[in-house]
Amino acid sequence: MTYPNLTLTLDRGELLCQGNYVDGAWRPGRAGCRYPVVNPADGQAFAEVPDSDETDARDAADSAARAFEGWRARSARERAALLKRWHALILANKEDLARLISREQGKPLAEARGEVLYGASYVEWFAEEAVRAYGDIIPEPVRGRKLMVVKEPAGVVAAITPWNFPLAMMARKIAPALAAGCTVVAKPAEDTPLTALALVRLAHEAGIPPGVLNIVTASRGHTPAVVGAWLEDTRVRKITFTGSTAVGKGLARDSAATLKKLSLELGGNAPFIVFDDADLEDAVEGLMAAKFRNGGQTCVSPNRVYVQDGVYARFAELLTARVSALAVGPATDPASQIGPMINRRALDKIAAHVADAVEKGAELLCGGRQPAGRDSPASTYYAPTVLAGASHDMLLAREETFGPVVALFRFATEDEVVAAANDTPFGLAAYFYARDISRVWRVAERLETGIVGINEGALAAESAPFGGVKESGYGREGSRYGLEDYMHTKYLCLGGLKQ
Ligand code: NAP
Repeated sequence: MTYPNLTLTLDRGELLCQGNYVDGAWRPGRAGCRYPVVNPADGQAFAEVPDSDETDARDAADSAARAFEGWRARSARERAALLKRWHALILANKEDLARLISREQGKPLAEARGEVLYGASYVEWFAEEAVRAYGDIIPEPVRGRKLMVVKEPAGVVAAITPWNFPLAMMARKIAPALAAGCTVVAKPAEDTPLTALALVRLAHEAGIPPGVLNIVTASRGHTPAVVGAWLEDTRVRKITFTGSTAVGKGLARDSAATLKKLSLELGGNAPFIVFDDADLEDAVEGLMAAKFRNGGQTCVSPNRVYVQDGVYARFAELLTARVSALAVGPATDPASQIGPMINRRALDKIAAHVADAVEKGAELLCGGRQPAGRDSPASTYYAPTVLAGASHDMLLAREETFGPVVALFRFATEDEVVAAANDTPFGLAAYFYARDISRVWRVAERLETGIVGINEGALAAESAPFGGVKESGYGREGSRYGLEDYMHTKYLCLGGLKQ
């Protein structure tokens, strides 16, 4: 089907890819099924991609398995050079990639450009790390032996990504996998396949050899079959997944039969704590940056904002002034700061969390509805919202809201707030603002999360390890730790050496 109303204009039209990429070639799904890609700003379909099944998944795994020996045999410098070329092409096509992200995901264009740069930074980083996958020499316990440790690629990697950062999440997985010498089969989220397909096209243009990187698209209905084929395939040695905790737990369970190596970057429920001694202006600034990026649809988005008694009223006032001034609108409007939510399900969840909080006694300081003029049945916009007087019996205290909603909880003591912050099964990110240096160190140590922002709301960097503890998963992305996740440690014992 063609989409005559397609208003998406790219400098390079060929970056709108609408097929699977397997063994170096674009193809339809074997069964010929397709599904539409929808613009969340208006609910209109504007492209379509293969709705793949297990046969397509197996084709991709066959291709990746065939390519593995050749790819791992290349020198680290060769792999790095290809990744650097890919990085350069991502930067050269930044505008088109940003347009694709905005169109299928809904984030404002300026943010989408930021995502392209952020994703590209991982490709560059891992190109540089590829040549530093060092091993070790261990002092021999007896004469005549040498003990060595070498790092080897894990094998074929299956990468499964969410819709909220369609480029960055793919780049963050594919780049370290390829750097380590692994080959990849990838499946993007149903809602956002086009950015991932364009990214793979650029990898092809960069000269990544056929079979090394394969991607198949699937709708939510077909996804379990596609991923299931990889879970049971003994040649797929690693699953790297970013998404919800529920799906991550299912992957851990279902991959047990073949005991795959797993990286699980799962959901969060981040606390953001403002102590009485914090710089309040800085704290508001940090919260705005952490909370409203991507309309609050990020895994490290503060979900529970704890403010100490002495500054509670002032903080609420400063914050509400900033939040109510945020501009909501389509990605194409340069003034927009908050785009539409990804789909109706997401919007319904946000509305349910706010209604539940108000019913249980929270006070609405701003927002709390769809914005006027953007409330048609097809619209998924939600007004940036601040709720005061939140409590732990509310849904938004227990689950990720994943939207532009700030809930303020009042607290009195450090012990009380640390206990409340840790009172969740999740442990991805936490933030706090304080100036007392002893408190800074104490609280940083006591928070049960993989990432802590101290007097800082923007945490992610390609050089830093990103990942969680508890039910936010395991494994780290970015940094030198991120490369380790795609490698095995092999011990070589060379004996019989004569003196
Ligand atoms: P999701 O529903 O778990 O989906 C993530 C990916 O898993 C998608 O590709 C999805 O495909 C696929 N999937 C869904 N059901 C599956 C199944 N039964 N078997 C195999 N794969 C399956 O999560 P989401 O709603 O897209 O993303 C939001 C979640 O991701 C939030 O919880 C957020 O916190 C988390 N997240 C975490 C991080 C991190 O680094 N920790 C980063 C970003 C997001 P379909 O789209 O086709 O269903």
